[in-house]
Amino acid sequence: MTKTALVTGGTRGIGAAIARGLGEAGYQVVVTYNGNDEAAADFTRETGIPARKWDVGDYGACEAGVESVSSEYGAVDVLVNNAGITRDGMLHKMGIEDWDAVIRTNLTSAFNMTRAVINGMRERGFGRIIQISSINGQKGQMGQANYAAAKAGLLGFTKSVAQENARKGITANVIAPGYIGTDMVAGVPDKVLEQIIGQIPVGRLGEVDEIAQAVVYLASDAAGFVTGSTLSINGGQYMT
Ligand code: NDP
Repeated sequence: MTKTALVTGGTRGIGAAIARGLGEAGYQVVVTYNGNDEAAADFTRETGIPARKWDVGDYGACEAGVESVSSEYGAVDVLVNNAGITRDGMLHKMGIEDWDAVIRTNLTSAFNMTRAVINGMRERGFGRIIQISSINGQKGQMGQANYAAAKAGLLGFTKSVAQENARKGITANVIAPGYIGTDMVAGVPDKVLEQIIGQIPVGRLGEVDEIAQAVVYLASDAAGFVTGSTLSINGGQYMT
């Protein structure tokens, strides 16, 4: 039977590549997004993958969204918590709004979405939960105290979910990408980007498909013995 995969923030960047990769691997894929209707419409037109709009930081919206996706496309077998934002600034200048927004969208979202699918996965005895964290959650990053805290939080969350659900056929894993060429990185000034690339042993930014193919593996039946792990995909920039 065709498995259903739900990818948050799947209309652009890494999420869009993940959605495409899972689609090519035979999943019924649904993506979510937050506000950029044009990008979502373009993505659906190009791929035929349906896109649903809700804020992953909103618990009720996640609950309702998952219910509606499940009734239309089948119960969610694979959840990829990919949606994320940055609101960078040095801690001594950071406002509480930027802290709250980043924690809510990047960390609370994982609770909201995982909570909405976990009981169904437990009942069916199968599930794959994949979080898209970041190298900066592993090593910290100047100007990203909020983002690094949220992305590090995903590691502890995922290991706990992995332990609680291992006997139910559910795996939970983290992918920690390094710098990947997407809109998020397009916001980084050229000079800073040059310095960053200088710190990457492979000597280039990562490509979205390099993350997507790792997700396809972690989602597969073949990865049933991989759980609670963090896969670093960063060109050697931070070796864990
Ligand atoms: P993009 O900014 O290109 O895309 C972000 C996606 O998330 C969009 O689809 C956006 O929807 C969606 N989104 C944002 N906020 C919300 C929300 N509140 N509710 C629902 N959807 C939301 O991001 P990337 O592809 O660069 O990053 C994807 C993930 O990978 C993020 O978690 C990021 O932190 C992580 N990452 C990225 C790296 C990189 O180098 N790019 C490196 C390491 C980690 P909309 O279009 O409507 O705004």
